[in-house]
Amino acid sequence: MNILEIENLTVSFDGFKAINQLNLSLETGELRVIIGPNGAGKTTFLDTITGKVQPIEGQLLFKGRSLKGLSEYQISRLGIGRKFQTPRVYLNLTVRDNLDLAHNRHKNVFSTLFGRVSVSDKRTVAGLLETIGLVTKADFPAQLLSHGEKQRLEIGMLVAQSPDLLLVDEPVAGLTDEETKNVSELLLALSESHSIIVIEHDMEFVRQIARQVTVLHQGSVLCEGSMEEIQNDPRVIEVYLGQEPSIPEIKDAGTNWMGI
Ligand code: ADP
Ligand code: MG
Repeated sequence: MNILEIENLTVSFDGFKAINQLNLSLETGELRVIIGPNGAGKTTFLDTITGKVQPIEGQLLFKGRSLKGLSEYQISRLGIGRKFQTPRVYLNLTVRDNLDLAHNRHKNVFSTLFGRVSVSDKRTVAGLLETIGLVTKADFPAQLLSHGEKQRLEIGMLVAQSPDLLLVDEPVAGLTDEETKNVSELLLALSESHSIIVIEHDMEFVRQIARQVTVLHQGSVLCEGSMEEIQNDPRVIEVYLGQEPSIPEIKDAGTNWMGI
């Protein structure tokens, strides 16, 4: 069954169609990477799924249920979690407390306030610490973490809210090669039990995690396929190389792809 089914989606900003008749379906349990030049509509696409932006046309079905007209809060309660580009962790709290808070915010704010943490919650948080590779830093305040560790913590906080679908916007922007690898391993591990959409520019990262890639261009799907198919598709090469001079990060991506 498809967890997400999107048909003829159109989003307009004062007449400009940032998303234009977009069609996409995501199978339950799938890890999908979405790439595309700057301005292609990637962030707007996530904004539309999470209810931040309303479409003027089209269908958005999550587990068969229409998301149209629902608020961001309602959509998040249905099981769609989003990680933004910049980490939003509580810097003064420890890594463990950040995870506790995210877990309990979802469940019950009062138990956190009054310090009642059940055994099963402790187990959940301990498991998450392991998944995100921060066991040894569990009692450090988050401000002592590196940028990459903060990204992993925030992914952990997202998972603590038990969403079925994770939306992750540019998780490795500004990370070292080693941290990029850690984040790709984390997302691969999470994909065993979640459906995930990742937006990313970094082609090395995309290569590390991609199974199925969707290329967005001017608000529509340009093509879809394996990394191999995508990087040999003349339309993709044209879209990327055509924009090369003005967009350094895409230029790098193009360079990596073509090996030139
Ligand atoms: P991407 O994330 O792929 O770089 P965006 O979704 O951010 O692209 O933007 C797609 C297009 O929509 C861009 O041309 C951008 O300028 C425009 N856009 C995005 N948000 C708004 C907005 N709130 N108002 C007007 N135009 C917007
Ligand atoms: Mg964007």
